[in-house]
Amino acid sequence: MIVEMRRGATQAQIAGVVERAGSFGFQTQLNIGTDKVVVAILGSDTGRVPTDVFAVLPGVETVTRIMRPYKLASRDFKPDSTIVPIGSLSVGGPQVIVMAGPCSVESQEMLLRTAQHVVKHGATVVRGGAYKPRTSPFSFQGLGEEGLRILREVRAQLGVPIISEVTEVHQLAEMAESVDVLQIGARNMQNYPLLRAAGSTGRPIVLKRGLAATVTEWLQAADYILAAGNPNVILCERGIRTFEDSTRFTLDIASIGVIKRFSHLPVIVDPSHAAGHYALVPTLARAALAAGADGLIIEVHPDPVNALSDGLQSLTFSDFSRLMGELRAIAGAMGRTL
Ligand code: PEP
Ligand code: MN
Repeated sequence: MIVEMRRGATQAQIAGVVERAGSFGFQTQLNIGTDKVVVAILGSDTGRVPTDVFAVLPGVETVTRIMRPYKLASRDFKPDSTIVPIGSLSVGGPQVIVMAGPCSVESQEMLLRTAQHVVKHGATVVRGGAYKPRTSPFSFQGLGEEGLRILREVRAQLGVPIISEVTEVHQLAEMAESVDVLQIGARNMQNYPLLRAAGSTGRPIVLKRGLAATVTEWLQAADYILAAGNPNVILCERGIRTFEDSTRFTLDIASIGVIKRFSHLPVIVDPSHAAGHYALVPTLARAALAAGADGLIIEVHPDPVNALSDGLQSLTFSDFSRLMGELRAIAGAMGRTL
């Protein structure tokens, strides 16, 4: 249920709504907009309470039931688009953000070289996995703590924000020290303890869409992070499983429009994991920006032939610089900067 307060409603009137919700055992979350406050009434059984119990309270403008299964991620709760800060960058504003780097951190030398190259060509966040959720337990699992040390080192040298994936709750304390943005991977989109714990770090989080998740399930997963009091969620479309097998996953370009319509959260696109092949990455990256994505996360490797993970879908340095030129033109045509 969504309680929209009147313009100029007092703190006491807002507290009155929160208190009444509490008396029914419901939780609340406030959206303090530029000229109005909206109170979300949260509970699995808000249907048992008539809207009138809130509508009669002083300072209340309207009370609406949200029929969508996600609440905090919905535009009904927060009509204004969310802008997620990453240091001095803003995700969801006019600037398109490109995050780029290797699938896995393999050594300090390779991460540094890759980071220098992608930053020089316009990437503003560097990616690199230290903990890799691999489909086979016999595949390279990432350098773990050593990978985090390398990420810290490169961040200190270049002063660029870093994104890396967290796969288990116990990694969070060290991850939060080492990286600026936490990535929750497709395979963990419905790992609810991880969503809650990552949410409570307060760090910006890139939440990838599960391989077989609907947009609704994805936004419900975002609600777990938002309900932990962390508003800094960036959604990431990375393709879903379909019957089509000529790409690794089918990039659901339409989800960008769906998210923009029903949610206030920014959305970026990962063309690399969807494509599965370097030759297709530019096509998907260009389409994503034209469709209105707020950014991209792209795998780049100094020597894809010898990469320890995802070499086939990794761009070489020259592929990446060429693509950035094309993306700049598309961003411009969309009235954005890159
Ligand atoms: C990754 O970013 O390297 C990754 C494993 O992505 P996803 O979770 O989308 O498969
Ligand atoms: Mn990868």
